[in-house]
Amino acid sequence: MVGIVIVSHSEKLAAAVRELTRQMVGSAVEIAIAAGIDDPENPFGTDPMRVLAAIEAADRGEGVLLLMDLGSAVMSAEMALEFLEADRRSRVQLCEAPLVEGAIAAAVAVSTGANLDRAIAEARSALTPKACQLGIEPASPPAPNAATGEPTSQLRLTVCNRLGIHARPAALFVQIASQFTASIAVTNLRRSSEAIDGKSIIQLMTLGVRQGDEIAIAARGIDAGNAVQALKELIQCNFHEGDADVPEVATSAPTVPTGEGVQGIAASPGVALGPLVRYHPVLPEVREAMAEDPESEWDTLQLAVQNARRQMQMLANAMSSPETGAIFEAHQLYLQDPYLWKGIRHDIFVEKYGAIAAWKRAIDETVRRYQNLDDPYLQARSSDLNDIGIRVLRALSGNSSVRLELRDPGILLTGDLTPSEVAQLDPKVILGICTTGGSANSHSAILARNLGIPTVMGLGDRLAGVADGTEIALDGDTGEVWVEPDRDRRRTLAAKRQVSESRAIAPSPTQTRDGRRVTLLANVMGVPDAQLARNSGAEGVGLLRTEFFYFDRPLPPGEEEQAQVYRAIADIFKNRPTVIRTLDVGGDKPLPWLQLPPENNPFLGLRGIRLLLDRPDLFKTQLRAILKASHGRQIKVMFPTVATLAEWRAAKALLDRAKAELDGEDRAYNRAIAVGMMVEIPAAVAIADRFAAEVDFFSIGTNDLTQYYLAADRTNPQVSPFANVLEPSVLRAIAQTTRAAGAVGVPVAVCGELASNPAAVPLLVGLGIAELSLNPRAIAAVKAAIARFSVPEAEAIAATALQLDSAEAVRNFLQQQFSALS
Ligand code: PEP
Ligand code: MG
Repeated sequence: MVGIVIVSHSEKLAAAVRELTRQMVGSAVEIAIAAGIDDPENPFGTDPMRVLAAIEAADRGEGVLLLMDLGSAVMSAEMALEFLEADRRSRVQLCEAPLVEGAIAAAVAVSTGANLDRAIAEARSALTPKACQLGIEPASPPAPNAATGEPTSQLRLTVCNRLGIHARPAALFVQIASQFTASIAVTNLRRSSEAIDGKSIIQLMTLGVRQGDEIAIAARGIDAGNAVQALKELIQCNFHEGDADVPEVATSAPTVPTGEGVQGIAASPGVALGPLVRYHPVLPEVREAMAEDPESEWDTLQLAVQNARRQMQMLANAMSSPETGAIFEAHQLYLQDPYLWKGIRHDIFVEKYGAIAAWKRAIDETVRRYQNLDDPYLQARSSDLNDIGIRVLRALSGNSSVRLELRDPGILLTGDLTPSEVAQLDPKVILGICTTGGSANSHSAILARNLGIPTVMGLGDRLAGVADGTEIALDGDTGEVWVEPDRDRRRTLAAKRQVSESRAIAPSPTQTRDGRRVTLLANVMGVPDAQLARNSGAEGVGLLRTEFFYFDRPLPPGEEEQAQVYRAIADIFKNRPTVIRTLDVGGDKPLPWLQLPPENNPFLGLRGIRLLLDRPDLFKTQLRAILKASHGRQIKVMFPTVATLAEWRAAKALLDRAKAELDGEDRAYNRAIAVGMMVEIPAAVAIADRFAAEVDFFSIGTNDLTQYYLAADRTNPQVSPFANVLEPSVLRAIAQTTRAAGAVGVPVAVCGELASNPAAVPLLVGLGIAELSLNPRAIAAVKAAIARFSVPEAEAIAATALQLDSAEAVRNFLQQQFSALS
């Protein structure tokens, strides 16, 4: 007897279909189900291994009919087939019939002794009674294939659009083909190519279809006729492109007229002039490994691909022209290409490769295929695949950074840079940075500011048509970039550069016009910028971002190595304070060697203190290093991203454990070391009074506070207008924190980027902030700004700003106040 397998995302749905069917035919027909996944939180999904088991359970030797619900159910079923022995596979059929009606019709037929072909035919015609009852003419099915009984439809036609089936037309073709359940084979008759899968963009592109080529499309399946008709319409309307507006992809990038400027996001101030150097990433070195648990490797890969797809969608949205945006959208099709996934599935489940190895093998093989083609256009597409491959590999390996090595000075043009990539840039060689994505609040932008590299982000494709080596100028204060700037522009920019360089001599001490002292500390990430900070007039370090000691190395730094760096930095400031923030990774600063699974929302994931508490080994090593360095120095310790009292107390408890260990080892450290926390999560603001009773100090991280208050990812240029630190809601959060702290005499600093904004500084002073920690390069301007206001003036500014309606109103108001005193 023929067996039936129901494949569904929902276990309940599959069980109900089986129950309903048994109501009709009793339990004589073997109906097995493969539904849902082993995840109590999110049980919906399909699992090829469950499908395999169900086939084995339903197979009585006379064939098995599989009915599936949607999308990945079909993929899981196809995949299960690959694991079957050839003999059994030959008697298993996937059927596109509707789940409920199909199951009942097939089961009824089977119960009367029908063979597999008849059961399939019955399932396929299961909608006819319903259609008749509703008075709907059932669609006349295409003629069936004589051998298999499946409907087929074929077509030969000439491709007339100017560039043939290049990237965008191929994407449209695949998008349409994928809407149908029929299989679709395409042949390029000019080249007498083999038939390829019309739902695979990789294979379709390799057909090399040019203008005037005749192609054959053959569809097989219930909706074959409709599929062929839809594809015919697409080709006959020249893929919706007038030839005039379809330039070759390689030349479709917008060009900027010589001397004209383009606008991006001002991310790091300063002026730069130099040749454009495009950065082409290469596949990172990753550790390929075999894996024990194919399912978890498969899931890991799916998550990484999802992340990559999201990034690509963000890039597509950032493009200025719909054409280039469409290219990025087309690239996303590679991520779901059946040809690619067939190999990957095989490698993971049969060959037992790990996710990284399987992905890399598939990309390497496809890139090689493209490179070996004789069409130069197609050869060039291998770099698209490479790019896509890198994106997923980065997501898989925790965004392992790429070493950027430029020999001659120039202005870097790149997609997006991770913070660890920016951290290793040499400002003597990288004169400026232009990025297509990114936003001024990202850690990458903050680091570029710390390094003093003028940067414009979020340029989309505006510089895509500019050749490498072309002279460009950028102004990181305004976010403008000029291609081949004329003499006047150069002169203006050179003058501006001189003014900003001369600002670097800082007056001291820092006080308001009426004499209130404000302490200016520096945000640093290592010894060189600590030195720069001291030379710029910083009175200590208010935020040492320690994560940069952990990047770009295979293992975390040891206790003594860390202690030495902390000592070196604290010694630069002698008996002035150095606030060491414990490791804040996660979010846009992943650490490859932690090998954490990719997350859907990394900023809402295992970041900062959560990760430290999850990895007490890592945390305690750092705490011991900080304690050891604290001996005889003004070192303080600060925890990042604290949201709950429980986190704070757990971190403090671990610090106490580290102290006890050092006591046991008879090591010297500062027993009274001050311990504080970043206030950068709304939950911490809400209970700032409770925290204030337990901490030695607060430091407000306005960068994260803004992203979390306004629910706007600090790295996403699409939402950067929403992530505005001057929103009255964020300012009120600062006020609430200072009030809670002031009530019990706990000092509050601000170490977010707001502290580097001279126009905003009177507002902070007016809110009662007496300590600012900022980019060393902004110290001179901030000192000067503070000196222009008296405390009552600053308080009046703060009081007004808190009552305004919007960030824009606050910005205008602050500018007004600032110029009024100029
Ligand atoms: C902040 O969030 O404001 C902050 C100073 O920390 P980071 O920018 O390193 O997240
Ligand atoms: Mg932060």
